[in-house]
Amino acid sequence: MKRLVIATGNAGKLREFRELLAPLGITVLPQSDFNVAAAEEPHCTFVENALAKARHAARITGLPALADDSGLCVDALGGAPGVQSAVYAGHPRSDARNNQKLMEAMQGVVNRAAHYHCALVLVRRPDDPEPLIAEGQWHGTLLDAPRGNGGFGYDPYFLDPEYRQTGGELPLEVKNRISHRGKALALLLEKLKQYPL
Ligand code: IMP
Repeated sequence: MKRLVIATGNAGKLREFRELLAPLGITVLPQSDFNVAAAEEPHCTFVENALAKARHAARITGLPALADDSGLCVDALGGAPGVQSAVYAGHPRSDARNNQKLMEAMQGVVNRAAHYHCALVLVRRPDDPEPLIAEGQWHGTLLDAPRGNGGFGYDPYFLDPEYRQTGGELPLEVKNRISHRGKALALLLEKLKQYPL
């Protein structure tokens, strides 16, 4: 089995990556196993931040590393909260305060279009000149009141146009298939089959 470090502390993401990569003969390890502290995310694009996190984890562990960076981009807000999604309402990060700030910003706004974006970056070593990069988007609209208790982050306000359900209402297996992260992961798997670790 080949070993790959995941630059996340999120148990749900770790489980998802583990299940998807096991058939490719890849064992996924969390960066916390190696005492890797969270990397800085100073950049203005998702892909740059994911690359910074992956490089950081690869440098400290000496293993190939995979990182993701994601967020919600709202058309009427010029793409905000974007790369700031996790800390839109400041520190410490809070989904409740982020959603409250979003709803205040969207009060009376007619154009409700928004999408989630996910960038996944895999480096074989810190100075890998050819990182594997996969990105995905999930387009929808913003409600003005929450629906559903599932998901996380902005999900209760984010309505999928096809299912007519929010990210908080959709069954997880559906969300994982149609979401920004699901789409990016599917693309990454294809690239990994073409360019094995
Ligand atoms: P991260 O990439 O896991 O740090 O996520 C960044 C932030 O974007 C999260 O804290 C959420 O606020 C938001 N976000 C990213 N993906 C999702 C999602 O699938 N549902 C809801 N919010 C999300």
